[in-house]
Amino acid sequence: MAELFYDADADLSIIQGRKVAVIGYGSQGHAHALSLRDSGVDVRVGLHEGSKSKAKAEEQGLRVVTPAEAAAEADVIMILVPDPIQAQVYEESIAPHLKDGDALFFGHGFNIRFGFIKPPAGVDVCMVAPKGPGHLVRRQYEEGRGVPCIAAVEQDASGNAFALALSYAKGIGGTRAGVIKTTFTEETETDLFGEQAVLCGGTAALVKAGFETLTEAGYQPEIAYFECLHELKLIVDLMYEGGLEKMRWSISETAEWGDYVTGPRIITDATKAEMKKVLAEIQDGTFAQQWMDEYHGGLKKYNEYKQQDSEHLLETTGKQLRKLMSWVDEEA
Ligand code: NDP
Ligand code: MG
Ligand code: MG
Repeated sequence: MAELFYDADADLSIIQGRKVAVIGYGSQGHAHALSLRDSGVDVRVGLHEGSKSKAKAEEQGLRVVTPAEAAAEADVIMILVPDPIQAQVYEESIAPHLKDGDALFFGHGFNIRFGFIKPPAGVDVCMVAPKGPGHLVRRQYEEGRGVPCIAAVEQDASGNAFALALSYAKGIGGTRAGVIKTTFTEETETDLFGEQAVLCGGTAALVKAGFETLTEAGYQPEIAYFECLHELKLIVDLMYEGGLEKMRWSISETAEWGDYVTGPRIITDATKAEMKKVLAEIQDGTFAQQWMDEYHGGLKKYNEYKQQDSEHLLETTGKQLRKLMSWVDEEA
């Protein structure tokens, strides 16, 4: 059983006694910096020259300095810049200012798990990763709630690193909802696998294949769009609320029968064998290295794939249909 921690298990005074640098002010960075500040923590934000969010951070009452200045001032440094550039920001601006007793924090384990960042032995290395987008993390905090977090310690130089991580999680509201203890390895590998095989990659491929099957058989793209993409939300909402059981309670018996007999013909033993290969490539670092090569090589294939999908009939059809549904917010 997973180990869970709540408000009563975390001591906010630990993080209140430290100086925190939040490097980056994007989705996660703004939520962490503002909520820690509101929790009585001494926070500064580290942003690069020409940062788009500097003015916003200052407007919201935060002190903004360069990443190097933030790292030099602080003894807890949370790195919330995009994963592919973390190693560079670390080498240039953070590593030169790390002292024994400092703590290095992450919102995702990628760079530690795959060895792109190798912190010195005298610092604590911790992760506090909210299981939700940053804007929700901030909103829930302001409403007196919290987004559940997972927390991990990769290196416990001080002997108190997990208590420090829990204290940080409390400062952003995480312990209100619950914090699950994990490891950098488990968090990184399951996060990458989930997004590739199920949440993003798997779902997008399933929707596209279903849509193409119907349109290639001559059915109207608009009908295929509703059937294969639009209705997915209703199904996922039911799963979220009550698992497969609630989804099956709501659908017709015909749909439920089709679910049992056809689902396993779509996601077959071969699909699962491929999932195991995907997982193995995540575990042995192949995926991480390929992605870093693609990113630092100028994102050529990435942009090609993006372009191809934006021209797909599924997407052009959806754009038209969503315009007519004023309650579907494109920006949200
Ligand atoms: P964003 O892309 O939203 O934000 C990145 C921030 O980093 C921006 O403020 C950007 O500045 C800033 N930045 C870019 N380059 C530099 C630099 N050289 N030095 C300092 N700051 C820089 O990132 P996310 O919040 O999505 O991701 C941050 C971390 O959180 C990642 O490790 C991610 O895996 C993790 N995470 C993200 C989640 C999410 O909800 N998005 C969920 C859970 C974890 P500007 O734009 O001002 O120019
Ligand atoms: Mg992810
Ligand atoms: Mg139907």
